[in-house]
Amino acid sequence: MSSKVICTSCNVLILKTTYSSTNGFCIPCFQDRNNSKTPNEIKYILNNELSEAEKIFTLHLQKKWPSELGGTIFEELDDVVVGCAYHVFHCNPHKDIIDLKRYNSLKKAVNELEKLILSYSNYEKEFASSTLQLGKYFVNFLSNKV
Ligand SMILES: [Zn+2]
Repeated sequence: MSSKVICTSCNVLILKTTYSSTNGFCIPCFQDRNNSKTPNEIKYILNNELSEAEKIFTLHLQKKWPSELGGTIFEELDDVVVGCAYHVFHCNPHKDIIDLKRYNSLKKAVNELEKLILSYSNYEKEFASSTLQLGKYFVNFLSNKV
C-alpha cells in the first residue's frame, strides 16, 4: 500500500522502484528530461559508451584533485579552474543522471576555463588542461543526452 510515491514533477502515483531509477520521476516525466530515453536506455548508454571518459576521469582523480574530493592542491588553484573541476566532477555521467541545468553549468565553466587557461602558470595549467579536456569530453558526450 505504501509502495507507491508521487512523481516530483506531475504528482502521478508511481512505484518506489520507478522513483529510485529515475531520481524521482514517472517514466513520461523522466523521458521528457532525457531526450525520450528510458532509465534503462540511459543506463545502457552510460555503461557502454563511457569507458573512455571513465578512464580519463579515474586518472584525473588519482593525479590531482581538489582536497575536498581527494586531492591535495585545491587551495593553490584559481577559482575558475576549481569551478570547472567541480562541475566536471558533478557531471560525471557515471555518477548521476544529468539534468539540463547541471549540463549548462558545466558548459559555462568549460568555456570560461578555455578563455583563461593560457594565462596560467605551468603548475596550474597542467591541472587546468586535464580538467578542460575532460570537461569538453563530457560536454560533447552529454550534448544530445540532456
Ligand atoms: Zn511525472
